[in-house]
Amino acid sequence: MPELPEVEALAGYLRQRAVGRRVDRLEVAAISALKTYDPAPTEVAGRAVVDARRHGKFLDVVFEGDLHLVVHLARAGWLHYREAFPSGTPLRPGKGPIALRVRLDDGSGFDLTEAGTQKKLAAYLVTDVAAVPGVAKLGPDALASDLPTFAERLRSRRGQVKGVLTDQAVLSGVGNAYSDEILHAAKLSPFAITDRLTDEQLATLHAATRQILGDAVERSVGQRAAELKGEKRSGLKVHARTGLPCPVCGDTVREVSFADSSLQYCPTCQTGGKPLADRRLSRLVR
Ligand SMILES: [Zn+2]
Repeated sequence: MPELPEVEALAGYLRQRAVGRRVDRLEVAAISALKTYDPAPTEVAGRAVVDARRHGKFLDVVFEGDLHLVVHLARAGWLHYREAFPSGTPLRPGKGPIALRVRLDDGSGFDLTEAGTQKKLAAYLVTDVAAVPGVAKLGPDALASDLPTFAERLRSRRGQVKGVLTDQAVLSGVGNAYSDEILHAAKLSPFAITDRLTDEQLATLHAATRQILGDAVERSVGQRAAELKGEKRSGLKVHARTGLPCPVCGDTVREVSFADSSLQYCPTCQTGGKPLADRRLSRLVR
């Protein structure tokens, strides 16, 4: 799932490549992906792209006259920039990974795609970004928050730090992958309870958040420029590395179920060498 760094890189790429170009048309192939009907997609035609922004994990393509195409890429969504499209024929609604296509006046443009059968990509065409339900609820940006804001936000919600850090209403932008990396860098158990974290632990967690997200933005931006392929992450130390050695201490990275997914962590770095109990599994066994 694209998180803050990947969406930031996509917005940056669009700022370089698409801003200043005029839209030929916006085509909607997956009707269910577009959550709004007014303004109509035809309203975008003829308008220039004036900016591309990020709100948490949402991408916001801004057209002149204050019209916004706001997109949540969900688990398997991505943006593919095309220098040219194979034909001028409009997309046919229905099958295939393309949800929306934006054609620009120089023949280039971009597709918003979603792999797999579970279609969760959500796009909104709005004149006010706050009209998008997920955007209105977003907490402060995880990368832009200073320590006092970060600490106040985390302490505002009592719960396991993994869950609180990925709660978009607390802080926006961090998802399953980067929260694993941040907690590993901060040497914190994902199950630590937020209101028991010391000032020092919160300061370490804040620094780790800035470091991990900042580095990932840099890597993602570099990747964007080099190749406009699918989402590809590098430099992850624990996320999606179950069974592999922790690059910091050599212990084996472990996995435990969390919410509707799973998380990865290093016992030596994060939990005093003790593996976390998989609550879901033990419930099933009992
Ligand atoms: Zn380790």
